[in-house]
Formats: sequence, C-alpha cells, structure tokens
Amino acid sequence: MKVLVAVKRVVDYNVKVRAKADGTGADLNNVKMAINPFCEIAIEEAVRLKEAGVATEVIAVSIGDKSCQEQIRTALALGADRGIQVETDGSPEPLVVAKLLKGVIAKEEPQLVILGKQSIDGDNNQTGQMLGALTNMPQGTFASEIKVEGDKLNVTREIDGGLQTIALNLPAIVTTDLRLNEPRYASLPNIMKAKKKQLDVYTPADLGVEPSAHLTTVKVEPPAERQAGIIVESVEQLVDKLKNEAKVIS
Ligand code: AMP
Repeated sequence: MKVLVAVKRVVDYNVKVRAKADGTGADLNNVKMAINPFCEIAIEEAVRLKEAGVATEVIAVSIGDKSCQEQIRTALALGADRGIQVETDGSPEPLVVAKLLKGVIAKEEPQLVILGKQSIDGDNNQTGQMLGALTNMPQGTFASEIKVEGDKLNVTREIDGGLQTIALNLPAIVTTDLRLNEPRYASLPNIMKAKKKQLDVYTPADLGVEPSAHLTTVKVEPPAERQAGIIVESVEQLVDKLKNEAKVIS
C-alpha cells in the first residue's frame, strides 16, 4: 500500500512570531522553520505502517518554494522513501494546496493520504477536508488511532466528550490529531541517508492546476497587550471590585 503524506513548512512552534510593521503578514526573517507538528505525526504514522508491513512506500509531498525541500528531507530522514515538491511562490491557500495534492494523487494513486489536521501558522484546518471533497475520497479527520483491515481503514476520531470509530473504504484521507502517536527524532545516519533519497519537483502546470488565489490577507496584527493585574487585600475587596468595577457579578 502506497501512503502519501503532506508536510508543510511552518515557523517552528517554539518561535514567538511577530507581525510585520506594515501589517502585511508575519515577519519570517531569520526565523527557525520546521515541519508542521501535525505533519510530523502524519509521517510517523505512515512510517509505522511501513514498519508493520502494511505500507510498501511512503511519499512525502510539500507545496511551496525551494525552501520546503528542507522539510521534505526531514521527512525522508524520519523514514519516508521519497519526496515530491510542488513548486509555488511560498505556501498557497488551502484550496490551492488541495487542488495540487489532488494532482499528485492522480499521478501516484496512493491507497492512503495522511495530512495534519491543521497547520500551526494559518490555523486553517481546511486542506484535508477540501481534498476529500475534490477527490471524492472518504475522510477520517482528527484521527487518534488508525487500523488498516483489508480494504477498510478504521479511524478513531477525537470528538467532543469522547471517541468515535468510523470505517472508511480505501483509498482514503486521514488528518492527524495530537494523540495519534509520538513522533521519533531523526538519527544522524538517517539524516545523511535522506540526502540521497529521490526528490522530484513538479510545477502546478505538470499537475494541470492553475494556482489562482481566492483569498487576500487584509491585515495581520499582534494581539492586544494584556493589562497588568492588581493584588487585592481581601475577599470582600475582590467581591466589591467584581461587582462595582468589572460589573461581572451583581
Ligand atoms: P491547513 O488546512 O492549512 O490547516 O493544513 C492542514 C494540513 O494540510 C497540513 O498539516 C498539511 O498536512 C497539509 N498542508 C497544508 N499546506 C501544505 C503545503 N503547503 N504543503 C504540504 N502540505 C500542506
């Protein structure tokens, strides 16, 4: 079974992101970039399926400019067999990413496609669902466990107040939640080996896709500064302030 995993290049989750002074976006100058954490979980799950003898090949695909090859190489060091970059100017909006992934699916015909549930930069939570709609493939979102059984995939999903298990016909799409697994670290020998693995580059035209934008970012601004708190001297004073100043109790 061929498994395709979508990995996105994002700002490392430890970095405190700043908005650009002109409000046109986040300032990415000299900022550490990494694989989106949910995509790391997706790669880990695909590699575990390969180690269990269920998957035969794991392909990592990233859409963006040349710099996203760094994240594809990381995915290869974590155990993916080969990589695909679809060359675009920066990372496009979710609908364009979904259309390009659909093009890669048409070329590669994977049985399973794993994406993160969300990218931590845009917080979109859209690409997997849009890909499901565009390809007409069944999808299991927010997966905390997956099990391949013959030509079916059982996906346990994290929903409000519990877990739901659904059965999907393969080929299918899964988006990963945080508790699906704990990703491994890449070892130095595997980082070296990853440099030699195959990485193909496609243009959107190779996939028959015109990457036209539907969204424009109007403004990006930092959150309002938090006001300093005060220390009250007694419960009575607290109640008085809540009642008469904050007016949150009566
Ligand atoms: P989003 O819909 O932007 O929150 O992203 C959800 C998931 O879609 C990510 O975790 C990735 O698996 C995939 N994805 C989004 N953008 C890209 C991209 N530029 N390249 C590869 N995968 C992507």
